[in-house]
Formats: sequence, C-alpha cells, structure tokens
Amino acid sequence: MERPLPPPTTRGARRRVGAGGTVEAPFMRSLLLVVTILAVVSCPALGQQPAPGPESNPFFAEWTTPFGVPPYGQIKEEHFLPAFKEGITRQRVEVEAIADVAAPPTFANTIETLDRAGEFLDRVTGVFGSLISAETNDRLQAINRETAPMLAALRDDIRLNEKLFARIKAVYDQRDRLSLTPDQAKLLKDAYRDFVRGGANLGPEKKERLRAINAELAVLGVKFGDNLLKQTNAYRLVIERKEDLAGLPDRAVEGAAEAAKAAGLPGKWVFTLQAPSIWPFLQFDDNRDLRRQILVAYTSRCDHGDDADNKATLSRIAALRAERAQILGYPTHADFVLEENMAKTPDKVLALLNQVWSPALATAKREAADLRAMIKTEGGSFALEPWDWRYYTEKVRKARFDLDEQTLRPYFKLDNVRDGAFYVAKRLYGLTFVERTDLPVYNPEVKTFEVKDADGSHLGVLYMDFHPRPGKRGGAWSGRIRQQWIKDGKDIRPIVTNVGNFSRPTADAPALLSLEEVETLFHEFGHGLHSLLSRITYPGLARVPRDFVELPSQIMEHWAKEPEVLKVYARHYKTGEPIPDDLIAKIKASETFDQGFATVEYLAASFLDMDWHVMREAKEQDVTAFEKASLDRIGLIPEIVVRYRSPYFQHIFGGGGGYSAGYYSYIWSEVLDTDAFQAFKDRGLFDPATAKSFRANILERGGSDEAMALWMKFRGKEPSVEPLLVRRGLK
Ligand SMILES: [Zn+2]
Repeated sequence: MERPLPPPTTRGARRRVGAGGTVEAPFMRSLLLVVTILAVVSCPALGQQPAPGPESNPFFAEWTTPFGVPPYGQIKEEHFLPAFKEGITRQRVEVEAIADVAAPPTFANTIETLDRAGEFLDRVTGVFGSLISAETNDRLQAINRETAPMLAALRDDIRLNEKLFARIKAVYDQRDRLSLTPDQAKLLKDAYRDFVRGGANLGPEKKERLRAINAELAVLGVKFGDNLLKQTNAYRLVIERKEDLAGLPDRAVEGAAEAAKAAGLPGKWVFTLQAPSIWPFLQFDDNRDLRRQILVAYTSRCDHGDDADNKATLSRIAALRAERAQILGYPTHADFVLEENMAKTPDKVLALLNQVWSPALATAKREAADLRAMIKTEGGSFALEPWDWRYYTEKVRKARFDLDEQTLRPYFKLDNVRDGAFYVAKRLYGLTFVERTDLPVYNPEVKTFEVKDADGSHLGVLYMDFHPRPGKRGGAWSGRIRQQWIKDGKDIRPIVTNVGNFSRPTADAPALLSLEEVETLFHEFGHGLHSLLSRITYPGLARVPRDFVELPSQIMEHWAKEPEVLKVYARHYKTGEPIPDDLIAKIKASETFDQGFATVEYLAASFLDMDWHVMREAKEQDVTAFEKASLDRIGLIPEIVVRYRSPYFQHIFGGGGGYSAGYYSYIWSEVLDTDAFQAFKDRGLFDPATAKSFRANILERGGSDEAMALWMKFRGKEPSVEPLLVRRGLK
C-alpha cells in the first residue's frame, strides 16, 4: 500500500495509500439491498418537480451503448435525484413482494430473489459513484448529501423488516437439509449474518435507535468528505520569486507555472495540496520555510476551527459507532467490523501492528540520525523537522545510491507504464486490452479499454482516468460501475475504473511518473483485474473482506519492479531505450531505503484508526488530545507526522468509513502478497500453473468462500510475517 490514500465512494473497491489511493467500498451492492426487477415497476411521481421525467432520463431507458456502458454524454445532474428515488422505490417494492410471498420460504423465493433486488438502483449508484469521486461538483455533492440518508434508511428498512427476516431465518434454519451448492450456502450464510448484524434480532426500541444512528452517520460521513475536498482545493502556495523555486526539478516548475496560468496568475507559480504538487515540493524545494508552510497547510486541513473543521464531526462518528456496536452486542466497533475480516479480532490486528512497529520505529530513528548528519554536512544547525524529512531523504538517497527520482522519471512515461501493466496481465492470464474511442466518458481525459480473455472472448471494460482535477478526490482507487454476476443464465460482465492523481504532461514532455506512482498504477490495476476476472454467480458474493482485498492489488506491485518486466515497459520517452541495468540495480539496492519512515507513518495511522474504534464508551472526545495520546502511546517521533491525522482521515471517517478499524488491511494484505509472490519467484515469474491457480482460486472467486479458504487453496500453507519484515528491511 502506501501511498496517500483516497477516499471512498463508489461501490466496489478502491484503494490505496501512499501515493495513491485505495479500494474503498462505498455503496456496495452487497448489503443485499439491491436487486432485480420484479414485476412491479412503479412509475415515478410525474409532475412533482421540474426534474425531467422518465421519457428523457437515461436511467429509465435501456442503454444501447457498446457493452451497455453508461451514456455519460446524455446523463445530466438533474437525472440523478429522480433516478435515485425511483430506484429506492422499486427496491422497496421488490423487497416487500419477497416478504409477502404466500408460499413457504425457500432459497429461491427468498435468498436468491432478495440478492437480485435493486438492479435499477444499482445502475444509478454505479454511475453516481464514478462521478462523485472523480468528477464531482457542487450539485452532485448536494445530491450526495440528500441521498446518503435516503440510502441508509433503505438499508435499515430492509434489514429491519421483520417479515422478511423471518423468511430468511426459516431458510437458514433448514440449511443443512437443502442440498445447496457451496455458492448458495455462502450466500445464505452471508444474508443471514447481514441481517443479524443489521439489527434484525433487536427489539423495537433498539431498532429505532439503530435507524437514527445510521441516518446520522450517513450525513456525517458525507459532510466529512465534502469538508476535506473543499479545504484541499482551497489552499495554494503562490510563489512570485524565481529563487524560491531553487532545487525543484524542471517539470515541477513547469507544472506550477501552468497551474498558475490556469489560476489567472501568469508569470507566477502555484503549488497545491494535490499529490503531484506537494510531494515533489517537499522533496526538492530548497526554501525551508516554504516547505514548512505547505506541509502545515496539508496537516492542518479541517482543523482550523471554522465551518470546515472536521473534529466535532469525527468525534461524533466515533461515538455513534461505539454506541451502535454495543446495541448490536459487540464490545466495540472494531469487534463489529473485524468479525467479517480475515483478522477476526482487534487483538489479532494489534498483534500484527505491534510485531512490525518496534523494528520499524527503530529503523526510522536510524534514518532520522542519517538525515541529521546530512543537515550537518550541509552546514545546517537546525533541528530536523517534519518538513525536512523528505527533502534530506532525497539528499541521502542521492549520496548513497546515486539515484534520484528525476533520473528515473523519463523511463516511466505514463502510457508505457500502463502498457507494462497490460503486458503483465497478458503474460500471466493471456488478457488483451483494446483501446476504444467510441465509448462515452465523463471527462475527455478518460481512456477506455475492452478487456479480452486469452480466447478472445469479452471480459469487461476498463476506464482509466489518471490526472488530478479539482473535482477529483485525492489518492487513487479502483471502482466498479457495474459488477459481474450471472443474470438469468447470462454472464453480465463488469465495467471497472482505475482512477489516480498522477503527474500531468507538461508543455514539452508527456506524463512521466515517479516510481511510487508506477507502483500505484500497478496496484489499482490489480484491483481492476480482481473485478474484471470475477466469475461469481450471485451479486451478493462480490464482497471481499477488507484485509484480503489488497492482496490482488499489492501483488501487482512486485511485477512492476522486476528487472525482466522493467526492461519491457520502462523505456526512455525520447529514445525508446530500455532502462539501463545500472539503474535497475540502483532501484533494487534502494528498495529498503526510507522504509522505516514509510512503515512508521502508515502504522501510526493504523494504530490511530484502531484507537478510535476500540472505544468502549459512546462518548465524544477532545480530538486533539485523543490523537496525541494515541500517538504518544506508541512513541511516534515528532519528526514524522502520522500519514493521516484524524480531521482528514477520509478512509475511516469519510463517506461510509469503509476502512474504519480496517486501515491495518494494507499491512495485513502485504503479509499475504509477499508470500503469494514468493510462489511466483520460486516457480517462475510467469509460471502458467501458478498464474492459473491464482486466477482460479483468488481472482475469480470474489467473496464466494472464506478468505482463508481461498488463500489455502492457492498457497497450501498459512502466511508468515517474516518475509514482509525482510522485504521492508526491518529485519
Ligand atoms: Zn488497494
């Protein structure tokens, strides 16, 4: 993982941190909410509002586009609200119909039908999710604020429907006598558990309180994300004197000049809090005070005591989650969340975090000493501060490995890197990616590809959208506009997005990526493959535990840096020459460099996440004091800022809070991906049998079996932490 993470939004998974983003889960189809068009198709309330009626609203029509992709050009903002309302109404009607069936409950008339309900709404949320994360605006955000509580209420109405739950329970109670297939058995088990976890077994008073909590959480999560986007976009560092640009690579200067021009400040330079702008600035700009300014702006987002301050919001979120967990019979929100993950309990999560923390912190302290020495060497007499870390790290890197990022970028032209990811998928699974120019897109920067299997058959559609825009959230992620499932015997193939905030082309060079951006691109692509290769029967089986879902993504990062693969895609953008061996050797040699920092920064955020969610009392907190206590307890050194401070920890507080008590997932999955990749290293980087097994046992299976069972089928033994410690140079 590891890159600055992105926010959640859509359904499906997104991802990542560090430089990129993550898989997050937004409106999942899962909650069994969704599904099919039963007979009853209610008509929207015509004439109630000026919104366009069904006759002109694309959500009310069949899509005749190739592969049935969304007709983005025809979909207008005003179409969403009526479509959401219609989808919600239809789903209610569908679900009521299931609850009211006169015949005794069976798997087919209850579980299967329920799983298919909500198809209309699913189509709306799929499109809306793609836009609210990557191409949003004030109107869409207002719609998001309005619909979030409506969707939360719908979920509650379904899961708290007593007649419906009685039918589900009746089927569940006879599960051993039903001769179900493994898929059906898993779907039944998940459905039953979902309802229980949704409060179906509670008495009326507690049900009422649960509804109120869920409604409030839905509103608060949207508010948190809106505030963050607003504050991230609001800041800019305007530079007027050329000497303040000293140290920066040319392309960073050019990018800043173009940003200034776009902002109506020609002749100046503008830096922002978006990844391709702030991180190079902190790595290279010689002006220490300006580095301080931009980092402080970044780390104080939504912490200014103004109307975009998120502290009260997140404190309330944490308290409500604690209360909800207790109503449902769990000691804490973390216990509630982890029950569904591979980790199962907070103790197991903390055991892993602690196991990595001590060696990581010791390594980071050694790194800090190296940085102080470099400051001294350069004649500086000040204390190391957070705004110095990245800057002096680059100097040490250069001195020790003779490697600087700017030497690498020319070999990482965005299109070549993307083709490198395609190449790996071709070698492993026989896939091909055919660019399409006839599919509607939501922004002209988006590129679309038809994905074909080894035999030439259609597998799905991939949208790639790679540069920052003001309407896009930070980070990188993969989402699903449509998920794969089998409808009436027909395999519905998925429509998947890969979204990032990568460096833009400049006036005289194409988009050239940093190594971290390269890893992020491969990472999201791995999530994309997980969605594209899916071969599940029921939509409800698409849900993958949070701490397992990073395995398919993170394993792709290993191939990105293999010399054999680098030689194929990492070609100089001007000469076409493959990356030289000595540069590859330097990349390899520096692989564990700065890993103390990266690991500590990430783990601190994971501990902070856990602390917010193992609270046993539903009590609001002084956020600043709470955070400080959490970070002091683990002994975080002041020279390193936790990767996400609470007021902008979008993963755990924004949207649906898909990573709450789940930010640890990246390191958990890293144990898995390091071990899984070892299987390829042992048998061959592209060993066909290993690739076939990974595809068949992991990538195609979604959540159709327990994660550990899927893992064991592929690997045959339990994963170990040791290889991860070695890989990160912590041991
Ligand atoms: Zn991810």
